[in-house]
Amino acid sequence: MAEFRIAVLPGDGIGAEVIAPSLEVLDAACAAVGGISLNYEELAAGAGVYRERGVAMADEAVQAAEAANAILLGAMGLPEVRYPDGREIAPQVDLRELWQLFAGVRPVRAIPGAPLPLADPRAAEIDFILVREQTEGLFAARGKTEQSASEARDVQVITRAASERLFDFCFKLAERRKERGHAGVLTCVDKANVLGSMVFFRKIFDERAGLFPGIEARHRYVDAMALDLIKQPWAFDVMVTENMYGDILSDLAAGLMGGLGMAPSGDIGPEHAVFQPCHGSAPDIAGQGRANPTAAILSAAMMLDWLGERHGAPKAEAAARLIEAAVDRAYAGGDLRPQEFGGPDGTAAVTRRVLESMKVTA
Ligand code: ATP
Repeated sequence: MAEFRIAVLPGDGIGAEVIAPSLEVLDAACAAVGGISLNYEELAAGAGVYRERGVAMADEAVQAAEAANAILLGAMGLPEVRYPDGREIAPQVDLRELWQLFAGVRPVRAIPGAPLPLADPRAAEIDFILVREQTEGLFAARGKTEQSASEARDVQVITRAASERLFDFCFKLAERRKERGHAGVLTCVDKANVLGSMVFFRKIFDERAGLFPGIEARHRYVDAMALDLIKQPWAFDVMVTENMYGDILSDLAAGLMGGLGMAPSGDIGPEHAVFQPCHGSAPDIAGQGRANPTAAILSAAMMLDWLGERHGAPKAEAAARLIEAAVDRAYAGGDLRPQEFGGPDGTAAVTRRVLESMKVTA
């Protein structure tokens, strides 16, 4: 029996509302596959916790999360709760730094039957992964702005060490996808026609490409990629980019899936990984049972996939595939319409459909 400890951080707003269905779906998938068990430990963190206790995530909670095999997170932050300097409460960003969660992995897959914003029929073929570097780039300037009365400078940092580990991760990801029938193409997204730091980024990408001859290495400038993500997003397999470009492109990419409630993500580091839906705490719909849990459910599947690969546990990978298949089946008929898309289906209805589909799929 493969056993894993999962730290569960529901967080704020709709975080808890989408985490509860995810745990239900995880349990159903593990029971259906057999030979795998997940033990959850719920931990308090987020803006609500900060408001009550003056700390967003206590040291003990961080330590407990660190001791777990993986972390599943709902959403954190509330607009009205801020640190004295005005910053939002975002312990998930602190965890990124603490555990060097260098790869922000955003799978973008059109789910047949779900409402897609692009009218082109090829939009149903969208299936790529965007990987965003998360430890440096332009975000390295956070808190270090050089400012005078007449000027402000934010410095972009690209290091060889961070770039090599990022590209190696992405080439391996493309190799793994290729084994599952994908194209085996990794596209480096940069601005090497303008910025020296991006010339360096691309040079390291090309060097690492030589170590992965089975994967085709391509380049795109970030502005051209923004266009392509609208004109032909189905043409991509895996793409990798710097922190700031990734921040922007990943929201565009989430839009291609229909909306934030459909888009999963994983923040992956050398030892730890945090899986969470792309959306925030959505206080406007919190407490009303309206949140779409699909992104959180798909993030839970990503977590199983990562655990399976890391620990050599094929049962975990099988459970991940089962969840994805159940989500696909739930939407396939075209009659599941989450409230996010103006339909009647709230959190409970979407969850029920996924669980019912799993019974048929398993
Ligand atoms: P953050 O800055 O924390 O990422 P945000 O301000 O970008 O958050 P979200 O909290 O993600 O925004 O929500 C943006 C809007 O999208 C919300 O107003 C909400 O109506 C909608 N939304 C987000 N997630 C979901 C979901 N899972 N189901 C339904 N609607 C959602």
